[in-house]
Amino acid sequence: MGSVQIVTTILAAAITAVAVWLAVRAVMKMTAVIRLGQPAPERFSDKGARTKTMLVETAGHTRMLKWGVVGAAHWFVMVGFIVLSLLVLEAYFEVVTPTGGLPIIGHLTIFGLATEIITVLGLIGILVLMVIRLRNRPTRPGGRSRFTGSTMWQGYFVEWIVLLVLIFGLLIRGFKVATDHFEYPLWATPVSHAVGAVLPDWSDGASVAALIKIVISMTWLIVISLNVTMGVAWHRFLAFPNIFFKREPAKPAGSGLGALRPMTSQGKPLDFEEADPEKDQFGVAHVEQFSWKGLLDFSTCTECGRCQSQCPAWNTGKPLSPKLLVLSLRDHAYAKAPYLLAGGGKDLTGEEKATQAQLAHLDVLALAEADKPLIGTAEEGGVIDPDVLWSCTTCGACVEQCPVDIEHVDHIVDMRRYQVLIESSFPSEAGVMLRNLENKGNPWGAPQNTREDWTKGLDFEVPRVGEVDDFEYLFWVGCAGAFEDRAKKTTRAVATLLNEAGVKFAILGEGETCSGDPARRIGNEFVFQMLAQQNVETLNEAFEGRDKAKRKIVATCPHCFNTLGNEYGQLGGEFEVVHHTQLLAHLVATGKLTPVQPVDGGVTYHDPCYLGRHNRVFAAPREVLGDAIAGDLTEMPRNSERSFCCGAGGARMWMEEKIGKRINVDRVEEAMATGAKTVAVGCPFCSTMLNDGVNGKGAGEQVEVIDVASVLLRSVKPEQPQGGKETAPIGG
Ligand code: SF4
Ligand code: SF4
Repeated sequence: MGSVQIVTTILAAAITAVAVWLAVRAVMKMTAVIRLGQPAPERFSDKGARTKTMLVETAGHTRMLKWGVVGAAHWFVMVGFIVLSLLVLEAYFEVVTPTGGLPIIGHLTIFGLATEIITVLGLIGILVLMVIRLRNRPTRPGGRSRFTGSTMWQGYFVEWIVLLVLIFGLLIRGFKVATDHFEYPLWATPVSHAVGAVLPDWSDGASVAALIKIVISMTWLIVISLNVTMGVAWHRFLAFPNIFFKREPAKPAGSGLGALRPMTSQGKPLDFEEADPEKDQFGVAHVEQFSWKGLLDFSTCTECGRCQSQCPAWNTGKPLSPKLLVLSLRDHAYAKAPYLLAGGGKDLTGEEKATQAQLAHLDVLALAEADKPLIGTAEEGGVIDPDVLWSCTTCGACVEQCPVDIEHVDHIVDMRRYQVLIESSFPSEAGVMLRNLENKGNPWGAPQNTREDWTKGLDFEVPRVGEVDDFEYLFWVGCAGAFEDRAKKTTRAVATLLNEAGVKFAILGEGETCSGDPARRIGNEFVFQMLAQQNVETLNEAFEGRDKAKRKIVATCPHCFNTLGNEYGQLGGEFEVVHHTQLLAHLVATGKLTPVQPVDGGVTYHDPCYLGRHNRVFAAPREVLGDAIAGDLTEMPRNSERSFCCGAGGARMWMEEKIGKRINVDRVEEAMATGAKTVAVGCPFCSTMLNDGVNGKGAGEQVEVIDVASVLLRSVKPEQPQGGKETAPIGG
């Protein structure tokens, strides 16, 4: 060993020892913080599906590849990081002797070839990512950036480290070529040979370059170890467990949505007949009341801003960004952690758990952080502003886009649950809706005995459950479908089409009550359970004696469709629920309905969030429209998985939209820009919101918003009176 190698070996060993010690400390700190969360035993179920999903999502980059170039570039950088870690290991042999290499594997030409290819593709990948980050930097003139609010130096730092590690890897090889100590042939490593051709014949070159590569790599490890909230770096490790522990691993990528999780205390679902707010946790009031998976979510965020770029609230000037919400919770959790780890925290009656002695030596900043209310205005020192919490439409665009499977909607609803159930703190205008749900069983407060009024004037009898037993489908009308004039037209259109196709169906009539969706999404789990239990009982009775495959329900409202199909199982109600567009598509495909007169004038389709993104029903409404209209459907730029919310979900329908541009107006402008004269929808709330938007733009005479079922009815029965345009106001 020469004198240069003695120095390079000592320096490499020293910096590595420091880096590894700091990294171990950092991992222990992160683990301790994540373990502060509440139990989540369901996350350990179905390990086979979890492993498969984790491998598919990471190796296949299923989320990232939705973003084309970025996804491909990131894939090469990820593979480069994993495979080229071996080359960092090899550098430790090269600081000892410039001709050194990995034992056994390092002598294989295939290893030389594979690492050469990955180095070159990794270099291209990281340069692409660097250019994309720079072109999207928040400070660039004009335009909104998905990186607004991200810690930009961390992103640049990580990218430069990757670039330099790759460059120094090539320099090591180049010096070996230049000194004639490189054992891979030219055909397998042409780039290394090209680099070697321009480097001097310096015998210590490989050792010095290897030392620099180790110093760069260990600097990265030291910096991230000193910054445990640096998700842009830590996600390389945390993304794997975060995806493994996602809530519904068996579902296809991007569909971990649909049902909300039940309200839990100590990891067990709460039953409101026995729950006690002094003994049970009602929602989330403090950051440590999220589950450990929630704290893992916050730690894993890469700050990529994909969620932010799709969020309807953020895109219309509201203060909510799902990314900034996650970052605020992460920073608060880590800043408060010393206090919690010292034994601090409030019990369910609000009393401090720690003794004075336990908190005596705590950093004043940790104590100050512990005093912050989780939900509060800037003046109150709150972590999350109430306007942020109540701006969410639960559209799921953030969860759909997040490459590391962070579950924003669950966290938002958990915080809402505490605010509503314990603090009674929510936008006051939604109080009327909640009172109506409790007292009248529908959000509008309409009399229950008018639930069947929509059947008046139909030229056939609509059968009720109880009057007939041999129905195939129970037609779940929903509150909007029963009480709201525009939606009643859809209800009538669906009933007419089912009757025309000879489908045996029956309604519950006055036996139906609200599915509970708005109560659950605003956070009032108590009212949700009350309504849902009543409905589950009614439905179980209606389907008595049938197995699940024959307990078929068709619903016109995607919120009912989602709640009945995905959430009633949590309360003992197992049903096969389809959306009316799915059933209509089937009836057309099987020849039971025949469109005879194409609807013309140009048609575009707005995907309702709870039908499309939450439940992956994208094709059926398009198939129905494809059969019923003249020419092709005109798609809006934001469609299918990337559809833009109408603004009504998450009980936002019953809250005023006081901040920023109205979401429905933004969506209507996009629809009108297609030039289509008809905007087809598949949801009564979307219909209301988009109609209001069209009328607000003074375009009510030129553009019609109408349900897919009504479009089909016009085509199947052109002679049928259509009842004019669907322009009646809500509650009419
Ligand atoms: S669910 Fe929709 S509105 Fe809510 S934070 Fe996510 S993207 Fe924004
Ligand atoms: S929450 Fe997910 S999508 Fe949003 S910034 Fe973090 S990693 Fe990216």
